Amino acid sequence: MTGPLGMLIVGAGFGGLGAAAHRRRCGDDDFVLVEQADGVGGTWWANRYPGAACDIPSHLYSFSFAPNPRWTRHYPGQQEIAAYLDDCVHRFGLAPHLRLHTRLTHLLWDEAQHLWRARVRDAAGHEDELLAQAVTLATGPLSRPRMPALAGLERFCGLLLHTARWPDGFDASGRRIGVIGTGASAIQLVPQLAPLAQRLTVFQRSAPWILPRGDRPIGARTRWALAHVPGLRRLWRGALYCQHELRAPAFTRHPGWLRRLEPLALNHLRRRIPAGALRDALTPHYRMGCKRILLADDYYPALRRPNVALETRTIAAVEPQGVRLADGELVELDALVAATGFEAAEITPPCPVIGPQGRTLHATWARGPVGYLGTMVAGFPNLFTVIGPNTGLGHNSMVHVIESQLALIDDAMRALRAHAWLSPTADAQERFNAEIGARLARTVWATGGCTSWYQTRDGRITTLWPGSTLEFRRRTRRLDRPDFEFALR
Ligand code: NAP
Repeated sequence: MTGPLGMLIVGAGFGGLGAAAHRRRCGDDDFVLVEQADGVGGTWWANRYPGAACDIPSHLYSFSFAPNPRWTRHYPGQQEIAAYLDDCVHRFGLAPHLRLHTRLTHLLWDEAQHLWRARVRDAAGHEDELLAQAVTLATGPLSRPRMPALAGLERFCGLLLHTARWPDGFDASGRRIGVIGTGASAIQLVPQLAPLAQRLTVFQRSAPWILPRGDRPIGARTRWALAHVPGLRRLWRGALYCQHELRAPAFTRHPGWLRRLEPLALNHLRRRIPAGALRDALTPHYRMGCKRILLADDYYPALRRPNVALETRTIAAVEPQGVRLADGELVELDALVAATGFEAAEITPPCPVIGPQGRTLHATWARGPVGYLGTMVAGFPNLFTVIGPNTGLGHNSMVHVIESQLALIDDAMRALRAHAWLSPTADAQERFNAEIGARLARTVWATGGCTSWYQTRDGRITTLWPGSTLEFRRRTRRLDRPDFEFALR
């Protein structure tokens, strides 16, 4: 047990490391950052399947306050992003604040002291209690892998994997492998497994929209120029930002506009897959953008290999020897990979979080997570959520959103110098959610004729922001005081 901290930060991915770097940049050393894994990086620590990479350009998918002129590719791979985040630890002097292998197990608001009491446990099972004026939960919406709900999965005798829990040293050579899913993870993994596997079966439930990726190395001369020519890196980042941001209205206000992009993707498909059953099976049946638009140049060619099969028949069950299809055929497998994504829409707190009057965050979020600008929750004072409810994007870099949230948290921390606690009012939160609920109903995610991980099981979109990142930045620049209740110290 130690004295009260200014802030406890939970999770060392982009969100948590960004929050910690912001504390340092604000001249505040009074924080601890806990991370349950043995390294930093969050989703980029966990997702180490072959081919894992980002589909937002590297110069945009990095902190504006921690530029990296040395990115080697237009789209960064997992290892390069993980190395960048590792470098941020050194750059901002975060190591003394960082506790790896440490999991938050319980969070309780102490009403007498106006502090959070946090229990944390390290890998050896040693428990510690930390007191903190504020807590930032940056545990990530893509941190809980979703296994497919298939009968018999637990009886499979081969190797059962999830893309987000990839074992080091897995050798695909000569194996009969099945991949369930055709989302962002699967389309990166399949081209890597295809040349190695004896037989690769891709189980597809819905065909995704795929655009050309056009990844390329960033040459040594360009890297030199980005490091040395004044203003060039900012110009590059700005151009990338605008190029992505211009797409926002199509997702959020004019879903019909996305129809104009569909021929691009269909041409991409036609150029790589000849007319016939395979092309038909790969043709999507919902409005582009309703699920995440994917980028890949090597996925379609991989499916044409003689040892690869795209299986569109429904999976009836998993059996000890493989996957039983609805028509009775058994696909025998040595390894089955669930590329089935994450429990993103049903965000649950990482541990019991108990606020004033015993109110729990689990109960508050029982019918789906709600918040105020995705960053705070009414009734939970001095608690911040990075990439909280309704902050996700279909069109631009999440790092931009995270930095907007961090500006709001910085302003809240300034207010907490004079106040014991602050929290959005229930009214303000209700108005906010009514507003975004109405706006979300007009988006492509609600009207595009698909179901996706953006929605809860009852169809509510809890993951996405229904506007531009500029609007989000404007609204998170500082606390809108009338929307908050404060208690003086
Ligand atoms: P995902 O987009 O949720 O895709 C899951 C896939 O599994 C879908 O194709 C889904 O089919 C399928 N599936 C789920 N349950 C199934 C079942 N019982 N039977 C058959 N198919 C089933 O997950 P993800 O690919 O891991 O991606 C999640 C998110 O992570 C992305 O949207 C992105 O935000 C992030 N990510 C980004 C990158 C990148 O930057 N390039 C890479 C990886 C991940 P349906 O479509 O029919 O539901």
